[in-house]
Amino acid sequence: MNRKTSDTLYRKALSLMPGGVNSPVRACRSVGADPLFIKSAEGSRIVDADGNAYIDYVGSWGPMILGHRHPAVVDSIRQVLEKGTSFGAPTQLEVELAEMVVEAVPSVQMVRMVNSGTEATMSAIRLARGVTGREAIVKFDGCYHGHADSLLVEAGSGVATLGIPGSPGVPGSFVAQTYSLPYNDTEAIKQLMVRQGNGIAAVIVEPVAGNMGLVAPAGNFLQTLRDECSRSRCLLIFDEVMTGFRVAYGGAQSLYDISPDLTCFGKIIGGGLPVGAYGGRKDIMEQVAPSGSIYQAGTLSGNPVAMAAGIATLRELKKPGFYSQLEEKSRILADGLQTAAEKAGRSVSLNRVGSMLGMFFARGPVHSFADAKTSDLETFSSYYRQMLSRGIYLAPSQFEALFVSAAHSADDLQATADAARASFRAL
Ligand SMILES: *Cc1c(COP(=O)(O)O)cnc(C)c1O
Repeated sequence: MNRKTSDTLYRKALSLMPGGVNSPVRACRSVGADPLFIKSAEGSRIVDADGNAYIDYVGSWGPMILGHRHPAVVDSIRQVLEKGTSFGAPTQLEVELAEMVVEAVPSVQMVRMVNSGTEATMSAIRLARGVTGREAIVKFDGCYHGHADSLLVEAGSGVATLGIPGSPGVPGSFVAQTYSLPYNDTEAIKQLMVRQGNGIAAVIVEPVAGNMGLVAPAGNFLQTLRDECSRSRCLLIFDEVMTGFRVAYGGAQSLYDISPDLTCFGKIIGGGLPVGAYGGRKDIMEQVAPSGSIYQAGTLSGNPVAMAAGIATLRELKKPGFYSQLEEKSRILADGLQTAAEKAGRSVSLNRVGSMLGMFFARGPVHSFADAKTSDLETFSSYYRQMLSRGIYLAPSQFEALFVSAAHSADDLQATADAARASFRAL
């Protein structure tokens, strides 16, 4: 594989940007690789700067559920470009996307658009603190909710990949207001609520955890969170930045039939452009400025180009049979990977919810961050490099999910299973 252009660009980037990248996981350090610079993408394929093509399972870390450059999305963006890219004033497109989100997710009666998942969770936390007049929040180990100060505690994604518990630069007084508990541990949350319940503003959770690999909510974990929050009169925030419109059109909350007070979105609702959103019960959302006094704003929020991409994406997702077809593809891929591992005599633990997969190099079962951390990271690294050399583009970390898109063909899935079989044998 020729990677001359990527390597040249990376060397230059290293002198211009910290670590040569604009987001840490892209650097691929934990798997002993240098990043590929991407030139273009189409459907299930991405092409690097040297012209090598790969079957893509990163999907821009979640948004590309339709695959790259879906014609309907590209068309919508083109149409908006003819009219202007930003006005700093309300547009019809914002009303349309808001209506689609409210229709899709029954617990969301009102929504505010922002520009990233980080902004969505950060703003939801501020709102919860403002509404309850309390300051403490609860999160779960291995869940990642963006990089806002209060939430960078025992976080997943790049924080887990780098093996750091938090981050310098986050004031100790902020961290002291954040409790982080083991995921899927109903006793831990019950006990904390007994002791601290009336000081807690919100419990925030990834209803399906996709930033420590992939970990599904077990037993009555989510229902326990709902019950405990109602009892302590604090808000339950579902961070559906990754799961929203991914595991079902109505998100994980529709899959598990739990109604949170606030929900955060991102990734898919932007159709590949920078969008986030938070929403929930009307009486809570009306406390956001300007209808209420809890301040939150954004120069580019509700940007027409991004709204158009989001609307076009959601329209495709709404078509009958979309999620059942995606489920079938994802099941085929999971079976293929599992079989490939078994044939090579490797014990892996494979978790899947819809089109999100996590394959841990661990005995399993994996129900928590502690379980995920028992994975053999060195073997994962070798597997990652083997798969890449066979044209399969995976997230460069054991602590990230794999995403199937509607653009993955039966041939893609077969080629991936074949590559996995060869890769496992070569480990
Ligand atoms: C990606 C992600 C975020 C952060 O979104 P950004 O757009 O990267 O700021 C927050 N929460 C979850 C669950 C995510 O997967």
